Amino acid sequence: MRTVYRDDHEHFREQARRFLEREVIPFHDQWEKDGLVPKEVWRKAGREGLLNTMLPEPYGQGGDFGHSAVLLEEITRAGASGLGFSLHSDIVAPYIFRYGTDEQKERWLPRMSRGELIGAIAMTEPGTGSDLKSVRAHARREGDEYVINGQKTFITNGYNSEIVVVVCKTDPQAGAKGVSLIVVEEGTPGFSKGRKLEKIGLHAQDTAELFFDNVRVPVGNRLGEEGKGFAYLMHELAQERLIIALRAATSIETMLEQTLQYTRERKAFGQPIFDYQNTRFKLAEARAEVEMVRVFVDHCLALHLKRELTPVQAAMAKLTSTEAQGRLLDAFLQMHGGYGYMAEYGIGRAWIDARVMRIYGGTSEIMKEIIARTL
Ligand SMILES: Cc1cc2nc3c(=O)[nH]c(=O)nc-3n(C[C@H](O)[C@H](O)[C@H](O)COP(=O)(O)OP(=O)(O)OC[C@H]3O[C@@H](n4cnc5c(N)ncnc54)[C@H](O)[C@@H]3O)c2cc1C
Repeated sequence: MRTVYRDDHEHFREQARRFLEREVIPFHDQWEKDGLVPKEVWRKAGREGLLNTMLPEPYGQGGDFGHSAVLLEEITRAGASGLGFSLHSDIVAPYIFRYGTDEQKERWLPRMSRGELIGAIAMTEPGTGSDLKSVRAHARREGDEYVINGQKTFITNGYNSEIVVVVCKTDPQAGAKGVSLIVVEEGTPGFSKGRKLEKIGLHAQDTAELFFDNVRVPVGNRLGEEGKGFAYLMHELAQERLIIALRAATSIETMLEQTLQYTRERKAFGQPIFDYQNTRFKLAEARAEVEMVRVFVDHCLALHLKRELTPVQAAMAKLTSTEAQGRLLDAFLQMHGGYGYMAEYGIGRAWIDARVMRIYGGTSEIMKEIIARTL
């Protein structure tokens, strides 16, 4: 029995489910083959109020993070891993909302809310991921412009992106204090997209390289203060990690239900797989563990709704939920036997899609570093 959501969140859940059933689930297999979700789906989601859910009108739908959480739970439950809505609405748009000027908010957020501008955030580079303060993309100031040079990789929504928050060095000598966040729009001369990267999972999700070759943008495209970008990133990454934890918890629950059903139906040596003690004990352990994960993640969600979630708690939630997801989905796949390895069974796809959860948004090792510093 979950207590974290209000009635309006649950009504929104119904709306999200209807959208997914109509506009997403029937087409997702094709998008997995295409390696991309069509832009039109974003526009439809915008029209139906499913983007920028947590931002006030006219920048978003006037909800709170609870609405975002409900939507991402439903997307996870549907196995619609191609939809990069949460990154757009709950990660990119909040940077503009929190650190942007009124003029910047008016310029970009209503269009993001309508699905007319697809958002991405470009932190990672070929040479640096975990060590974010070592990014090399450089924004050199020339009068009232920045000239950006550099390369980014593994960027979610990158190929479709129409607006990108780029993590740049404005002062390469100043380490973390030399990092700034600068917005680059599609069509700006010198900004180009590389190939869609071929991944082992998340096949429908667009992940791309981005290139910046003497890209000139007005100084007015910088979010917040020059040199404060690293501090902004550290603040916002807590929400990104909570999002990943919420998805991990939902993925375990969904796959546990599917595995219960499968093992009750499938027979070996004259009896359902479920009746073997090994199966029942493993599923019992899984039920106990996912309950623990859910309670802690909901606790973090409740804290976050009161703006009280700390970066350390978010790191704990991401670490424990995604490590549990990796272990449990592997056990569930094993219980499906050969069918577990077939793409048409949800468990195989969920298992491979889950692998990245321990890597992106900060690896498990980085989560341990964050927690260890407080010991
Ligand atoms: C599908 C996908 C989508 C992504 N989307 C985005 C996106 O939208 N935007 C974006 O900017 N990035 C994105 N990323 C990048 C992702 O955040 C990075 O891959 C991740 O942060 C790890 O960085 P790295 O790949 O450079 O690994 P590295 O930093 O090179 O790490 C390699 C290994 O070393 C370990 N390691 C590193 N430092 C330490 C340490 N101090 N102590 C112990 N171990 C350590 C790591 O844990 C890891 O196991 C995405 C990645 C993937 C795979």
